[in-house]
Amino acid sequence: MNTKLSRATVVVLASLTVFLCCLSVAEAYTTSLIDVEAPEEVGIGQPFLVKVSSPYILDDLSVSWEGREVTPAAVETGGGYSALVILGVNLKRESGVGVLKVSANLWGHSRRVEKHLEIVPVAYPKETLSVPPKMVKPPQETLNRIARERKLIRQTLETSSSVQQWDMPFTRPVKGKILSRFGLHRTFNGDTKRRHTGLDFRAWEGTPLHSMAGGTVLVVDHLYFAGNCAFIDHGNGLISLYWHMSKVLVKAGDTLEPGQVVGLSGATGRVTGAHLHLAIFAQGMSIDPEPFFNGTLAIDGDK
Ligand SMILES: [Zn+2]
Repeated sequence: MNTKLSRATVVVLASLTVFLCCLSVAEAYTTSLIDVEAPEEVGIGQPFLVKVSSPYILDDLSVSWEGREVTPAAVETGGGYSALVILGVNLKRESGVGVLKVSANLWGHSRRVEKHLEIVPVAYPKETLSVPPKMVKPPQETLNRIARERKLIRQTLETSSSVQQWDMPFTRPVKGKILSRFGLHRTFNGDTKRRHTGLDFRAWEGTPLHSMAGGTVLVVDHLYFAGNCAFIDHGNGLISLYWHMSKVLVKAGDTLEPGQVVGLSGATGRVTGAHLHLAIFAQGMSIDPEPFFNGTLAIDGDK
């Protein structure tokens, strides 16, 4: 009886071992089919790169992050296929965990990879500024205009194309030094609090400003806060905004080469002096432009 039992136990254990081995082989098999490289930790307001690669063709590739989906086309690289996606953590986001979901079709079979990324706070400095009161408290008659323009900006940020037009490295739009960093907690005239959602470069009146990458011009306009401005779609949810220009040298619908001149620096809109305010959005999220130009936006190991 005992012998029979132990034989049965052996059979069960052996079957279980075979089953578990098969499971881990299947897991390793799936993992090696799609490789997703992403940072384990991402800062609030910061962009990050995700690289999806496979030895095989990746059809219907989809990358989802914070409720937004990007559908990049994987390109053939040495010995396989890969796609790079730029994502970001919205400046308004609280710390926690973000779920990155990648799915693709390989030989007609759907494959999924999920990663949990830690979203961590970033210590953005504080700044106090004194400016003419009308700059922070717009006159009553302009409030409707400002509301309309906010709507236009939000709509424009939703209209990004899925064709990737950007490539690394990115072009710094102007050589001038950085005057004001992204994310600053600003207090104007002692009471009005705002976040700085762009990066300010010194750019004397009339200095040519370059597109940070190839793209298509979405909108050219004159807005209350932004002055003469251009919105450029670089594809896959990446959009850059150039504010305060004295003259815009492109028009909506134009296709731009990387580094092409967008316009000339100026002091239009609500500003105290000529400079470039560059804002960048990834999947509609306001992110820090600086990593695009200082070499820190990279896949770990490629830095
Ligand atoms: Zn600015």
